[in-house]
Amino acid sequence: MARIVMKFGGTSVGDCDRIKNVARRVKKEFEAGNQVAVVVSAMSGVTNQLVDYCRQIAPLHDAREYDVVVSTGEQVTIGLLAIALRELGLRARSWTGWQVPIRTDDAHGKARIESIETEELLAAMEGGQIAVVAGFQGIGPENRITTLGRGGSDTSAVALAAALDADRCDIYTDVDGVYTTDPRIVVKARKLDKISYEEMLELASVGAKVLQTRSVEMAMKHRVRVQVLSSFEEKPGTLVCDEDEIVEKELVSGIAYSRDEAKITVIKVPDRPGIAASVFGPLADANVNVDMIVQNVSEDGRFTDLTFTVSRADFDRAIALLNEKKGELGYERLMTDNNVVKVSVIGMGMRSHAGVAQKMFSTLAEKGINIQVISTSEIKVSVLLGEDYTELAVRALHSAYGLDAQ
Ligand code: ASP
Ligand code: MG
Repeated sequence: MARIVMKFGGTSVGDCDRIKNVARRVKKEFEAGNQVAVVVSAMSGVTNQLVDYCRQIAPLHDAREYDVVVSTGEQVTIGLLAIALRELGLRARSWTGWQVPIRTDDAHGKARIESIETEELLAAMEGGQIAVVAGFQGIGPENRITTLGRGGSDTSAVALAAALDADRCDIYTDVDGVYTTDPRIVVKARKLDKISYEEMLELASVGAKVLQTRSVEMAMKHRVRVQVLSSFEEKPGTLVCDEDEIVEKELVSGIAYSRDEAKITVIKVPDRPGIAASVFGPLADANVNVDMIVQNVSEDGRFTDLTFTVSRADFDRAIALLNEKKGELGYERLMTDNNVVKVSVIGMGMRSHAGVAQKMFSTLAEKGINIQVISTSEIKVSVLLGEDYTELAVRALHSAYGLDAQ
């Protein structure tokens, strides 16, 4: 007998028929002899609507009351799913976050799970009940409802799987797995059978929006095996697991891209110790996340150029901040561009094989695509390109690394 956590996202519980369909999937898993806990999101569109209500009442609303409002979507779906399961003759019961309880810190709107009490859930499951748990929510240190940030029910599911010591956490969604790249751009994109936590983390954070990034971090930390699969078709999905579990390792497993990038170059800043700190300090204080950074050598040791990227949502704010500090920083001018895209090649194989980056550069060169900024990590090479080249670059790289489906 295995213990399994099944998680269903918003589209999977989008209407009553779909909820009944989910109940049938759960029943099957249960009747195969498994202990089952189910985590659900709100019905698709509901959380957006709730967020909008808060904004309409007050654009700058109290974060604690916002959590009270936006967490309600999940309360509806746990109740409905428990009813649907009972209709199928199963014993099922729902739990909100505070009933479990799922304890979090007090960062309302983006709380982190600290602990989950599992005694009651385990007793129920061992007694043949199906535990239906609300995703996205928990309870803070002051006994107030918290939420985990948008897309947070993935994290609820993985955290619950870790706490319950589950054999697997199955994330049912509207795609049937993790692909080598975005299938809307590359028709020959392939579904991966397995992907390591590290690679998935890079894919998740550079724009393949299958799993909330935090849920992958949590899975990696607690070694939870996560399977991403379709709630509409019955076929195996992609297993996110330990590197050791992957027998046929690929040099490169995926090409990701993110249009959520904007480039800023600070031209002719005095090249002295502390200049980077004084440029990036105010940005960090204003919660502007800086991604890629390059600094040129200065020929005469006096001035240098500093180029970096921020997310598009922070672009205007970053420029305003730098303009404010112009006198203090002593640079000549700013050059900005938000028509850029970050394209990344990801693969564990890079750790042991040379030439992966070189292949990327030569492939882009052959297509006449200019690289503006480069950054690398142990298992990733990212380049910043003109946005118009997104499709061309992703397709060319996908072929160059032999990822195209036959
Ligand atoms: N319902 C929440 C949201 O839409 C949480 C989730 O779906 O994961 O963000
Ligand atoms: Mg989601």
